[in-house]
Amino acid sequence: MAEETIFSKIIRREIPSDIVYQDELVTAFRDIAPRTPTHVLIVPNVLIPNVNDVLPEHEQALGRLFTVASKIAHDEGIDEDGYRLIVNCNRHGGQEVYHIHMHLLGGRPLGPLLS
Ligand code: 5GP
Repeated sequence: MAEETIFSKIIRREIPSDIVYQDELVTAFRDIAPRTPTHVLIVPNVLIPNVNDVLPEHEQALGRLFTVASKIAHDEGIDEDGYRLIVNCNRHGGQEVYHIHMHLLGGRPLGPLLS
């Protein structure tokens, strides 16, 4: 059984955060240290530590991450200019929080991916 992270407390609204969207499968909230004008984290409500732990039964929740990313990008007015979606995995991927999440980054040009 994987250990919970701070994200589980955010999902259960036990600690404050700026939640922009929540349903029965996913929660989206603003990153505490935003790297771009829009920086939202979209997470499944169920604890999946990272991509290595993904199972077929997670497909509905993980597919919802994209649906919600698209909706939030539209709501934030960044869909036309564009944005970046990132999922980090383990040390080389730069993962800090072991509850799988998608970063939605936008609001300014981001440049090449690996710069
Ligand atoms: P990772 O490097 O794991 O892909 O990204 C983790 C992200 O979670 C970082 O961008 C970090 O700023 C954000 N983060 C860490 N702790 C908190 C928190 O307590 N609240 C919020 N809103 N974001 C957090």
